[in-house]
Amino acid sequence: MIQETAYIALGSNLGDRAHYIYDGVRLLIERVGVRVRLSPLYETQPVGYLDQPAFLNGVAELWGKLPEPRELLATCLRIEEDLGRERNIEQGPRTLDLDLLLCGDCVSADDRLTLPHPRMHLRAFVLRPLVDLAPEARHPVLRASAKDLLQALEATEGRMSGTG
Ligand code: AMP
Repeated sequence: MIQETAYIALGSNLGDRAHYIYDGVRLLIERVGVRVRLSPLYETQPVGYLDQPAFLNGVAELWGKLPEPRELLATCLRIEEDLGRERNIEQGPRTLDLDLLLCGDCVSADDRLTLPHPRMHLRAFVLRPLVDLAPEARHPVLRASAKDLLQALEATEGRMSGTG
């Protein structure tokens, strides 16, 4: 195994949102056994399914001897479950959502794991905290940095209105 960097988006809009995010980070450190840096957190309005509370969003950077992306995804799904996530409404409220954004340069498009995350370049609530942590992190398919992707998105949508 080689040293690699992965980025995971965290979002919560139920209960003590910051507590769920910090718990998620603690469990990532314990279960993946790598170094983790957490971005600033932003309060953002829901997209898609709108009738739900505001989210707290951030991004975690994992660095070290990472497991295979599928194994990392399985760990993320178990952490979501252990922190009480229920899947009642698609895009609905959740205690903690973990999305794998980037795993090194890995590109994957099977039914269980799409990498890079298929919507990361369309979501300011993902790109903003990713840029805070790693402006030069590279999208291996779009061949653009996180900073450039955020700039392109802001050019069409304007700046994210969430608070840092
Ligand atoms: P959700 O938690 O609602 O965002 O969706 C989780 C489901 O999406 C899981 O069953 C995963 O298998 C699938 N999935 C595909 N690609 C990814 C990814 N890059 N990150 C997280 N979940 C993914």
